[in-house]
Amino acid sequence: MSPRFESWGRLGGPAQTGIALAGWRTAAGSVLPYGNGRSYGDSCFNSAGALVDMRGRNRILGLDPETGVIRCEPGVMLWQIAEAAAPYGLFLPVTPGTRFVTIAGAVANDVHGKNHHRRGTLGRHVASLRLERSDRATTDCSPTDNAALFSATIGGMGLTGIITEVALTLMRVPSLAIRQVSHRFERLDDYFELSDAHDDDHEYSVAWIDQLARGDRFGRGVLMLGDHASEGGLDATPARPLGTVPFTPPLSALNRLTLTAFNALYYGRAPMGRSEATVRWDSYFYPLDRVIGWNRLYGPRGLMQHQSVVPERGGREAVRELLSCAARHGQGSFLTVLKRFGDVPSPGLLSFPRAGYTLTLDFPHAGPRTLALMAELDAITVAAGGAVNPYKDARMSPATFAASFPNWRTLEAQRDPKILSDFWRRTALQLGAERPLAEAAE
Ligand SMILES: Cc1cc2nc3c(=O)[nH]c(=O)nc-3n(C[C@H](O)[C@H](O)[C@H](O)COP(=O)(O)OP(=O)(O)OC[C@H]3O[C@@H](n4cnc5c(N)ncnc54)[C@H](O)[C@@H]3O)c2cc1C
Repeated sequence: MSPRFESWGRLGGPAQTGIALAGWRTAAGSVLPYGNGRSYGDSCFNSAGALVDMRGRNRILGLDPETGVIRCEPGVMLWQIAEAAAPYGLFLPVTPGTRFVTIAGAVANDVHGKNHHRRGTLGRHVASLRLERSDRATTDCSPTDNAALFSATIGGMGLTGIITEVALTLMRVPSLAIRQVSHRFERLDDYFELSDAHDDDHEYSVAWIDQLARGDRFGRGVLMLGDHASEGGLDATPARPLGTVPFTPPLSALNRLTLTAFNALYYGRAPMGRSEATVRWDSYFYPLDRVIGWNRLYGPRGLMQHQSVVPERGGREAVRELLSCAARHGQGSFLTVLKRFGDVPSPGLLSFPRAGYTLTLDFPHAGPRTLALMAELDAITVAAGGAVNPYKDARMSPATFAASFPNWRTLEAQRDPKILSDFWRRTALQLGAERPLAEAAE
């Protein structure tokens, strides 16, 4: 049986203790709200204190078809919102690559989707939030009311209080089906040209990269552009899962052999050049959700994801360098995703997305050599003026964190004194926070 609290990377670490929402203010020691553990590392853990499990608070409180605003309890999953909204021709304005995420967890990480170049992050579509704090009465906040707290909470990784309600403005769509235009490209430079030429004409854009291709095929892949089709219906019932990975194999099933076969198959399956197809919404947005527990395939040591964003200026060279670095280390990334973020500003104080290119690499954790690779990827990212994603991370240094998020102290000033996470302890608090720590009492 899976433990009650996991993070998606399954990297181990101390067991987590859970407490109920009622009474969290008076619990001993520090606490941290927990959504559905789809963060990859330790930003959703609090080993020295307790987690407040929000999954039971999962009612949709109202949906106004006129304004398109849905009001939810914090533990409502994105799939619930998609199901409730679809009959009205409404859809999530931004969705990450899995629908098994709570709305409050998605707000707390200010998640991005394949339409960042058009609509920015999820936080831009949050009309208002209700926040419980240990040091003041329950507070409603929005871009206009208690705006500083609102901005700190969007992307604030749960540190500014416990979100107990979210009002989200949905997006109108003609159907859930996606008209997908794919461009198979032969080399990395082709991606940049295709993305420049086509991103702005489409709602969605994301590229898969064959990270194992070398020589003149280095950086080859498939750019997948998409728009909601004018016809295709509004049924949000997802396709049945293809299967479940029932247990963790003793060794990672994702070795060089299986990766090479997978990449060749994936690349070869895409028609040469440009092709078009209408695809189901869930297969476009959430292909990985079809295999329940796929993260177990990474084996007993778990999965390390590295997501970076580098500014547009100099970004192409940085992406090339990041991919070359991974190739040099000889560690294959099972899933490599490249996307151009737009310049729509994020409302969150510590939001990860910013204009430029974001590259995501997934590695089976192979111990010190994976950590060495990750540190090199960090160094390339920081040298390029970029940032490393904190909610995908379990090991970045405090210096990398500070370089990625120079305004972290402003969030620290807004942090609820009762709330802490393993990530914040490991990064921000090592940089010399000036506030008393909740653990002082532990
Ligand atoms: C297959 C897969 C694909 C993904 N694709 C993307 C993607 O495309 N884009 C992207 O941005 N992310 C992506 N992610 C990451 C995922 O979307 C985020 O980590 C998401 O925020 C996780 O939400 P959760 O509900 O599981 O929350 P958790 O991971 O449990 O927690 C996330 C954060 O929210 C805080 N939190 C939880 N509940 C509350 C609350 N009630 N009040 C205040 N804070 C709270 C926690 O303290 C924590 O800091 C992906 C993850 C997976 C597994």
